[in-house]
Amino acid sequence: MFATCSRTLKTNANFASLLQRFESTLVIAEHNNEVLAPITLNAITAAKKIGGDVTVLVAGTKCGPVSEQVSKAKDVARVLVAEGDAFKGFLPEALTPLIVATQKQHNFSHILTGATAFGKALLPRVAIDFDVSPSSDIIGIKSPDTFVRTIYAGNAIQTIKLKDNIKLVSIRGTAFEAAAADGGSAKIEQAPAGDYSPKLVEFIKQELVKSDRPELTAAKVVVSGGRGMKSGDNFEILFKLADKLNAAVGASRAAVDAGFCPNDMQVGQTGKIVAPDLYIAVGISGAIQHLAGMKDSKTIVAINKDPEAPIFQVSDYGLVQDLFKAVPELTEKL
Ligand SMILES: Cc1cc2nc3c(=O)[nH]c(=O)nc-3n(C[C@H](O)[C@H](O)[C@H](O)COP(=O)(O)OP(=O)(O)OC[C@H]3O[C@@H](n4cnc5c(N)ncnc54)[C@H](O)[C@@H]3O)c2cc1C
Repeated sequence: MFATCSRTLKTNANFASLLQRFESTLVIAEHNNEVLAPITLNAITAAKKIGGDVTVLVAGTKCGPVSEQVSKAKDVARVLVAEGDAFKGFLPEALTPLIVATQKQHNFSHILTGATAFGKALLPRVAIDFDVSPSSDIIGIKSPDTFVRTIYAGNAIQTIKLKDNIKLVSIRGTAFEAAAADGGSAKIEQAPAGDYSPKLVEFIKQELVKSDRPELTAAKVVVSGGRGMKSGDNFEILFKLADKLNAAVGASRAAVDAGFCPNDMQVGQTGKIVAPDLYIAVGISGAIQHLAGMKDSKTIVAINKDPEAPIFQVSDYGLVQDLFKAVPELTEKL
């Protein structure tokens, strides 16, 4: 009996390692035709953790420079490239049939995106085509089919086993180290050809805010303002502080809803998730939905005139003071 059990165990272990070798992940690159978005490097690390070969799909109009960058990233075995006008504006309606065609040709076990606006628009569309369930905002990988994510605005952690044959997963960038941008030499191949022009939508234009400040989700320092800032004009004092610290500027949802700043600055459950080395919360009370987006920051500083504000419960350093006095003084002293 014992001999049979141990043989069965051994067989299972062999089978598991055989399966492991058959894992193969497709990562969908996020970029602007010139530069790869850092989240793709985080997704490559997650893909490597799943096991097996990592392939990255780069689709764009003239995305040669990005394909080159991806081919040099560590742990990438292959880059598939699709170029054409169909991918103007990176519309999910154009990218979805490309991903479906790529999947039909290569039969990946996993398809990964970042849990960004790009990934959020794309993954559910791909999932519909394969009739599988996408899993979003994954923060941990226990095995090729077992993943960890947060629920209840980050207040609980859930481990889930995915039973679909094709596992569609978006990953939280802050939960995975970025793969090294060089050291690799992946081969570059063409993605399946086809007419991917969307029939129901057409890309007209996009207006992007140009900023010399670091991108919010990639910045090492983030200064965020809340309703306590009282107006959009007052954010100027945060921009001045941010310039001294080479920081990105974020905001609470209340500040965004009040029209103080654009919604791409929102940090939190329904905004961006950040985990910088230093997060300075100014005039922000610390609602759980805001904490969900920043509580993994290494050092949290809060400036608030209310000593009872919940933000002080998660902050490493707290300053109970009027922000209109504290922030200019801090900026001057830096
Ligand atoms: C489904 C859902 C999703 C949500 N998603 C998000 C999200 O992604 N991100 C997010 O931020 N919120 C989110 N919210 C909203 C959240 O619940 C809070 O309403 C919001 O975070 C409050 O923003 P705030 O802290 O800026 O404003 P308030 O709670 O009004 O706090 C303002 C703070 O400023 C302080 N203050 C005022 N004047 C001064 C001064 N002169 N000097 C110093 N301090 C001052 C006050 O003491 C107060 O603590 C969500 C809510 C829901 C229901």
